[in-house]
Amino acid sequence: MRLDSKVAFVTGAASGIGKRIAQVYAEAGAAVAVADLNPQGAEAVAAELRRQRTRAIAVGVDVTNEAAVDAAIARTVAELGGLDVLVSNAGIQIVAPLAEFSFADWKKLLAVHLDGAFLTARAAMRRMIASGRGGSMIFMGSVHSKEASVLKAPYVTAKHGLAGLTKVIAKEGAAHGIRANLICPGFVRTPLVDKQIPEQAKALGISEQEVIKNVMLKETVDGEFTTVDDVAQVALLFAAFPSNALTGQSIVVSHGWFMQ
Ligand code: NAD
Repeated sequence: MRLDSKVAFVTGAASGIGKRIAQVYAEAGAAVAVADLNPQGAEAVAAELRRQRTRAIAVGVDVTNEAAVDAAIARTVAELGGLDVLVSNAGIQIVAPLAEFSFADWKKLLAVHLDGAFLTARAAMRRMIASGRGGSMIFMGSVHSKEASVLKAPYVTAKHGLAGLTKVIAKEGAAHGIRANLICPGFVRTPLVDKQIPEQAKALGISEQEVIKNVMLKETVDGEFTTVDDVAQVALLFAAFPSNALTGQSIVVSHGWFMQ
């Protein structure tokens, strides 16, 4: 699975899953735009990739800002010479019971996950159609694209929504050689999850160890966290797969928490 001469734009790539995807794509030969709300974090990742002789740029971007997303994609095309792979991965988590969820937090979470996916996909689609080279779009879903959990109303709603967006892009993109697929990870130890452990312990009235064992990993086959590398290897498969045979699909990477 190689990505030589391909250009990838990865959002949320300053941290966690997105950072590992940027590294794995670079190892596979791609030039990488490391896009994130956190410009210093993005620059640190891009600088590390450049030290390993990858063509990489850091792009500070808020994926909920239409003009900023369009400018970020345009800059990537201008500086790296095209766009072949989009990974729409930036995300946040806010946990609370539905009855206590503020409307502002609901809208904030949906904006990052859904507006962010739409805006990056639209900008990427325009470039991929114009170039005639097609491309691959990968959306970061979750087991919560398939299942529900308490305390996560907007997150579960957004992650289910991404499954629909993926399928529409697979249909609309086919004529242009554009594929779209969804990755659905189980729990991965990243800052996004580390922040939730004490929050869930407080909301559910249990210890942090119990959150890990009895909430996060309870339904897995082996009590193990999924790793950033597990997710990045699936992202590589979707990016490098050479035909429309693999489009409109989702792959769950969760130690068996959810089985299709
Ligand atoms: P993370 O917190 O480590 O990284 C998320 C990155 O997204 C951060 O660098 C952050 O700055 C960036 N970001 C946030 N809002 C942004 C915005 N508006 N514009 C641009 N960048 C923004 O989190 P992670 O665990 O690596 O999560 C990455 C994705 O994986 C998310 O979509 C998340 O929902 C999904 N996911 C995570 C897990 C898990 O267990 N960690 C499981 C399933 C799915």
